[in-house]
Amino acid sequence: ASVFDHVVRGPEDPILGVTVAYNKDQSPVKLNLGVGAYRTEEGKPLVLNVVRRAEQMLVNDNSRVKEYLPIVGLADFNKLSAKLILGADSPAIQENRVTTVQCLSGTGSLRVGAEFLARHYHEHTIYIPQPTWGNHPKVFGFAGLSVKSYRYYDPATRGLDFQGLLEDLGSAPSGAIVLLHACAHNPTGVDPTPQQWEQIRQLMRSKALLPFFDSAYQGFASGNLDADAQSVRIFVNDGGECLVAQSYAKNLGLYGERVGALSIVCRTADVAGRVESQLKLVIRPMYSNPPLHGASIVATILKDRNMFQEWTIELKAMADRIITMRQKLFDALCSRGTPGDWSHIIKQIGMFTFTGLNSEQVAFMTKEYHIYMTSDGRISMAGLSSKTVPHLADAIHAAVK
Ligand code: PLP
Repeated sequence: ASVFDHVVRGPEDPILGVTVAYNKDQSPVKLNLGVGAYRTEEGKPLVLNVVRRAEQMLVNDNSRVKEYLPIVGLADFNKLSAKLILGADSPAIQENRVTTVQCLSGTGSLRVGAEFLARHYHEHTIYIPQPTWGNHPKVFGFAGLSVKSYRYYDPATRGLDFQGLLEDLGSAPSGAIVLLHACAHNPTGVDPTPQQWEQIRQLMRSKALLPFFDSAYQGFASGNLDADAQSVRIFVNDGGECLVAQSYAKNLGLYGERVGALSIVCRTADVAGRVESQLKLVIRPMYSNPPLHGASIVATILKDRNMFQEWTIELKAMADRIITMRQKLFDALCSRGTPGDWSHIIKQIGMFTFTGLNSEQVAFMTKEYHIYMTSDGRISMAGLSSKTVPHLADAIHAAVK
């Protein structure tokens, strides 16, 4: 007998489980549109040239050692990450009131932020959008926060339920934490307009709601790093406080390197210093200190003007390919005369399209067409190519008929 005999098998992760099922499928036409990872036109994972170049430089530098990083990570990486999201001329950075710690990609940054808030912030309720990335409720719940949701997506328009959002945030208790997707909302691909962001900002500041931005797609939505950071910057530029979790998984293609950052923008440099001292106490017993390699790659690229430029070009190419796939899929459905309005495919932003397909239709497409996606009907546009668009369009056409 095992001392673990009572352990029951847990369910597969709803997103990563899609890949598990995909890997078991023997069909030559199988297509994985589940996980949000960029693929080339040939359907292959992509390592950016600028990343290869940075890695080569790191390997060739014999002065480099493998010592532990400090608890908060690589200092250059932290400084440059804050600049990237807040803007090089951000007054908050100039006034030294931002503390940034290197964490394990976006997820780790969210978790460290959540653990800090659970210990040191007076209000333990966090509002997350409905729907949101499936990991959010668990990340915040396991950190000890109480998770509630605010209306975000309107299935009728396949757009933003702005009225519902304002009502729900308007009736949240003063001081509550609000999780905001900085851009390219996952899974819906629906973002507020700049005017709507400004209204959200005013409402949140008037009620002292604390913004916690999740920035997993900076540069991936529009192809422009600054444009995709505007939501965060309007909140920082009003002088108020907020948290930002950054991930380099998508925009630098560093998925498995687990490189990200948590920044907490505070009122004063003194507060920021004290906050950082407490972040260290959160991190030390969790994983002691973060890994060196990914952060070194990012710092190498961000601090070199030419490499940074090269990155922005490669990033734009990824964003543009996704936008092209939206158009191709939309055109393919139009040419098939597929029933329904599919214009949301070209209106939505970022890596995903929230198709509006229900779980039965998704199951049908998996069974009959070997197409894998999450059961909420979300497809990763980055997993599509010109070659696979017709197959997907055939499947959607058959599913909705
Ligand atoms: N937040 C959102 C909205 C995401 O979509 C993702 C990745 O899919 C993440 C955070 C975290 O990703 P990672 O931990 O790989 O950086």
